Amino acid sequence: MQISILTIGNELLNGSTLNTNASWIGKSLTQLGCQIQKHITVKDDKAEIKNGLDTLLFNNPDSIIVTGGLGPTNDDITRDVVFEFVGVKKKIDKKYWLELTKYFKSLGYDIPPINKNQACIPSRGEIIPNPRGSARGYNFSYNNSNIIVLPGVPLEMKIMMKESIIPSIRSSIKQKYFSKTIKTTGLSESLVATYINKKVLMNNSCSIGYYPSLYGVDLTISGNQLKKVQNLSKEIESILKNNIYSNDNTTLERVIVEIARGLDKTIAVAESCTGGLIGSRITEVEGSSAVFKGGVIAYSNESKINILGVKRNTLKSFGAVSDQVASEMAYQVRKRFSVNYGLSITGIAGPDGGTKSKPVGLVYIGLSSQYRTVVKKFNFSNSRNQIRIRTSQAGLNFLRMELING
Ligand code: AMP
Ligand code: MG
Repeated sequence: MQISILTIGNELLNGSTLNTNASWIGKSLTQLGCQIQKHITVKDDKAEIKNGLDTLLFNNPDSIIVTGGLGPTNDDITRDVVFEFVGVKKKIDKKYWLELTKYFKSLGYDIPPINKNQACIPSRGEIIPNPRGSARGYNFSYNNSNIIVLPGVPLEMKIMMKESIIPSIRSSIKQKYFSKTIKTTGLSESLVATYINKKVLMNNSCSIGYYPSLYGVDLTISGNQLKKVQNLSKEIESILKNNIYSNDNTTLERVIVEIARGLDKTIAVAESCTGGLIGSRITEVEGSSAVFKGGVIAYSNESKINILGVKRNTLKSFGAVSDQVASEMAYQVRKRFSVNYGLSITGIAGPDGGTKSKPVGLVYIGLSSQYRTVVKKFNFSNSRNQIRIRTSQAGLNFLRMELING
């Protein structure tokens, strides 16, 4: 199934709103097995919208998904322009207008007359209900394509896609499509590709997509035959082994909580340059209280000494960003919280504070268990925030490996 996307809004072009609708629609429909032919973003302007539709129609898509500009204000012209483009007349849906009036009353105020736009219906075409807002969508059959018009508010667009559009597209797709995601961390994209290319037999019936991010490299294996997708995924899993933390789209923090719960193990963290990011990620997972006992953000030397009990002498001799300090932090946080695993982070997130021997991006991660305390050294690059995210992922992965290997 061939799909095109038209996103409408001045704010998308001037950069004040990130065009998340296009990426969400593209991803959701690709996962169903659709091909996204083209995506165009235009201003809230009659000629531009019409021109966008003409350009997309040139490739004969099965459907064009249009989002944005269905609100009640002056700049929201999409409804009128699309009605004119497909050649339908506009009338007021009195029943819906009454519903909207009542709804606004229930919120405690009179409905502004400008909302009347949202009660407009076309003389021909389908109305798509909006369970989260007042702007309903439309679906027109035009030449050999469907023109589907949805609001720009991402929450509303998504629920309308999920409840109305996706089920109907899914049922009309003839060619079956299967896709599996494997999430890895700790290896670069080129290394993952090298390992796979070396061993995986050329498999023309499936495609492998590489999606690197600060969290690692995700792989998607997709094709038209379930068995082939499953076999290739298994082959890749046997090559990448423990570098894979999830084969069902689960986050690393959730994987850790699940493993630790299964093993009945507890965790505490001592974070310096990540400032609580690891604790925050773990506690995002519901049920984490069974395994996560707490953490300390020991940012200054004094807090490392007074709260965690790192020795003043260790800090003086080796510096805050050192193997020795990471080791003491991990050991102490494990003892102080009486947990099975103490994870520590100390590093230089930059942009200042780096030296020749200790550059920005140098991070030590410590992990203490009842058997041993181990420290790993990392050199991350890029901006402060990127270093912090990479550090949190490396710390969580260190913990995962320790949990798996006991
Ligand atoms: P509109 O439907 O154009 O009135 O937009 C309503 C809200 O949704 C505004 O806050 C827009 O910035 C936002 N919005 C519109 N289009 C998009 C898009 N493509 N991606 C993300 N947000 C959007
Ligand atoms: Mg708009």
